[in-house]
Amino acid sequence: MPDNNQSLKRRVPVLLPLPLSGAYDYAVPQNRDIPPFGAFVKVPFGARVLSGVVWDGAKNESEIDDKKLKNILSPIPLPPLKAENRRFVDWVSGYTLAAPGAVLKMAMSADDALDGVGETTGLVRSGAVAASSFRLTPARKKVLDAASDSIPLTRADIARIAGVSPAVVKGAEDAGLLSKKPLAPVVFPVPDPDRVGVSFSPEQDKAARALADAVGKGFSVTVLNGVTGSGKTEVYFEAVAQALRQGGQVLVLLPEIGLTGQWLDRFEKRFGVRPAEWHSDVSKRVRRETWKGVLSGSVKVVAGARSALFLPYADLRLIVVDEEHDSSYKQEDGVIYQARDMAVVRGKIGGFPVVLSSATPSLETRINVRRGRYREVVLENRFGSAVLPRIELIDMRRFPPENIGETRSFLSPVLVRKTEETLARGEQALFFLNRRGYAPLVLCRKCGYRFQCPHCSAWLVEHRCADRLICHHCGHAVAKPPACPVCGAEDALVSCGPGVERISEEAALRFPAARQAVVSGDLNATASEMAALTAKIRDGGVDLIIGTQILTKGHHFPNLTLVGIVDADLGLEGGDLRAGERTYQMLEQVAGRAGRETKKGEVFMQTYDPDNRVIRALADGEKDAFLDAEADSRELLNMPPFGRLAALIVSAAKEDAARAAATALGRAAPSGEGIRVLGPAPAPIALLRGKFRFRLLLQTARSVAIQDVLRFWTSRVSLPPSVRVQIDVDPYSFF
Ligand code: ADP
Ligand code: ZN
Repeated sequence: MPDNNQSLKRRVPVLLPLPLSGAYDYAVPQNRDIPPFGAFVKVPFGARVLSGVVWDGAKNESEIDDKKLKNILSPIPLPPLKAENRRFVDWVSGYTLAAPGAVLKMAMSADDALDGVGETTGLVRSGAVAASSFRLTPARKKVLDAASDSIPLTRADIARIAGVSPAVVKGAEDAGLLSKKPLAPVVFPVPDPDRVGVSFSPEQDKAARALADAVGKGFSVTVLNGVTGSGKTEVYFEAVAQALRQGGQVLVLLPEIGLTGQWLDRFEKRFGVRPAEWHSDVSKRVRRETWKGVLSGSVKVVAGARSALFLPYADLRLIVVDEEHDSSYKQEDGVIYQARDMAVVRGKIGGFPVVLSSATPSLETRINVRRGRYREVVLENRFGSAVLPRIELIDMRRFPPENIGETRSFLSPVLVRKTEETLARGEQALFFLNRRGYAPLVLCRKCGYRFQCPHCSAWLVEHRCADRLICHHCGHAVAKPPACPVCGAEDALVSCGPGVERISEEAALRFPAARQAVVSGDLNATASEMAALTAKIRDGGVDLIIGTQILTKGHHFPNLTLVGIVDADLGLEGGDLRAGERTYQMLEQVAGRAGRETKKGEVFMQTYDPDNRVIRALADGEKDAFLDAEADSRELLNMPPFGRLAALIVSAAKEDAARAAATALGRAAPSGEGIRVLGPAPAPIALLRGKFRFRLLLQTARSVAIQDVLRFWTSRVSLPPSVRVQIDVDPYSFF
């Protein structure tokens, strides 16, 4: 009998894209070469066949003896995943406490690339269309609108563009309305670093050179800190050009909604072609080809949302994180990570520079500069003759809104007059309010009943466009009844407070001639629809823009000269660690939309709390003093980045189960020098999507390895499967 430990078979560990705690051993048949680390392989797993990666580093889970060991199946004909990508997966797993396979899954995010070539034929409108078009169903009409006469698209793409199911497309195909045609291959033309860019001002030139010089010289982090409109994009393009000249790949991370046509157009102007894009709006086929191109090295520049960080780069030599302060870099579910921080880690592992660009760098980043860990390059001036607008406060207690007949008003007479003047000059105005819908709350005037979500601890938000009361957490939607559901009173329901729809209603009464655009997440616009809308605004097709923070991301509207912030106080309440900082960043970014070219801009901020320190700092232009004070208060409280913080959210469908689990975790709480546990307490949103939630916070000194504490802590408590514990290291939202 062979000794179990004395394996005779040739084994390799394979990591699968599943939330398992480590790699599993598989046998390599005698007639096959041992695949190298990083090789993509197919293996049997239970009754399934899965793709995985031959892995070094992760904990090996299997202690299977030779007899039970399964063979590796066919190797996948793709280049192996390079070591630095593998180390990155391991690092992120170790830091976030997510299973390594769950992180690997993000690196294998184009499954079908691993399953062969994919479809090679697409569909175009066929000649039969004209004759039959008079009896088309509405769905088929949409399909034909989505399809082209000459450029073939896949069935999935046509379905996606038309907003119908693939079966409808198949039906149109079977009816002879669409015919097959070979798909053109997806190609990624190589950007040309040596096309002539803009000519820089001396300040820009110096900054561009500093960034470009760092490329090819190992790991470094440089903060490009420039006021809005200072030309940060053009400046960091020079670092991109330098990495391209050296033959490397580049990743530019952008907030999801920042990936608009405007940015892509500017890239194309500078480099002659568009970069590869990576975000949720990219079709499956293009995703697959992009993923393969990144792996083989044929894709040179990726412009992407946070998940692009996990692509299988062949030779990554630079990462730029644009709008590095943006909170959308924090992924809040699944593997919980902060993409800006992980970009720095990726640069360190890969030995290349990282550029963090922002007009309002995060506190974390500023402190890293102060400590000398990051370099800083500053652009103090707006480009050309544009000057930064002054921010003026409107004290709403002194200049309260005047109602228009029965219609409640939210715009003070000061802002109304400024808007009239701006519009009369033929310039554009923007009203900013970070709240979707019509009103954040509906209540009964008679009995005081408030419409609340049955699944969440949250009010239902009235949406008049959709004619619904909607929960912004879970999407639960109901029609607004004519009478109060509790006391039955008719005509007693009142809408409280404004959302963008309500501001739009008021603006239509006050400025009837102005052409309006309401821009919020409710548009559900795809990247290309959003690009079309921003182009329309830029080209003067809109006079008055009313929008949420979707508008704060890097848009450039040359004729926009007035920004009115409808409610500057919004977002300042609440126990969020970063509430002040975030409000500051958001308002400063919106203010930066005004007067970006030759025309002077004005910004007015409506507030009921003009003495609030965030509001004061904005009005007085005391950016540094404000952020220093924020930093001091965090240091005093030992909060990040001075101390470490992790949140444990315990949730379950039954309140008792969640409470019992949270109590058990609380009893097992770690203690020791520099370790403190707060809670358990009901989470601020105690009910979310039907789950009851409790929260514990672990706060430690910087010198404590918080992950080790978390691992030890959670391993001491065994919880029933009905309870979920989500660990969030460096939490950003405290809901
Ligand atoms: P930021 O990102 O710092 O807000 P942008 O990079 O968006 O600034 O630049 C603002 C505008 O000024 C853009 O339209 C950009 O093309 C233009 N711009 C910046 N620098 C130059 C330059 N040196 N020459 C010509 N146009 C420039
Ligand atoms: Zn809800």
